[in-house]
Amino acid sequence: MTRSTYVVAVGSNRRGRHGAPADEVAAAINALPGLVSVAPIITSAPVGPSIRRFANTVAIVSTPLSPADLLLALKAIERQFGRRRGQRWGARVIDLDIILWSAGKVDHPALKVPHPAFRARDFVLVPLVRLAPKWRDPVTGLTILQLHARLTRRRSVPRRVVAGAGP
Ligand code: ADP
Ligand code: MG
Repeated sequence: MTRSTYVVAVGSNRRGRHGAPADEVAAAINALPGLVSVAPIITSAPVGPSIRRFANTVAIVSTPLSPADLLLALKAIERQFGRRRGQRWGARVIDLDIILWSAGKVDHPALKVPHPAFRARDFVLVPLVRLAPKWRDPVTGLTILQLHARLTRRRSVPRRVVAGAGP
């Protein structure tokens, strides 16, 4: 049996039957197949035209499931948690994304791994740098540690300009 290791991102910005977004994230983590480790849950500013706050974390899972079958399992968990279709940027009880796969890349219209947006998402890279700093992104060749440093550097440039203009 060939097992794969995956990084799964878990997010919520809406109360559900388990409680607040952070409670929903914790409950969804418990529903993941083959859970190995999980980073602390963080809250972050909303992305897109939503005024809600997100709770986010990342988990590492080890499973014989293929990427396509893991995606099906994640979508079943999303449905269990009451996520409805068509809520792309809006309120969602649980969003589960496959970020990385130990065996490399998937490039299919319904499933792209590594997740195309993860390198720009601090709510993925900040928890992930604690969990898997040496994992190498097969697209850029950079480690999580390097991707996190690159994102932090970019973010810090406008802050420094603002700080320099102040008293
Ligand atoms: P998002 O997570 O970008 O806010 P959704 O959760 O609504 O959007 O997902 C939309 C679709 O993205 C899913 O139905 C799935 O088929 C597709 N998808 C492509 N790559 C991935 C991935 N790496 N992880 C999860 N879903 C993915
Ligand atoms: Mg998703």
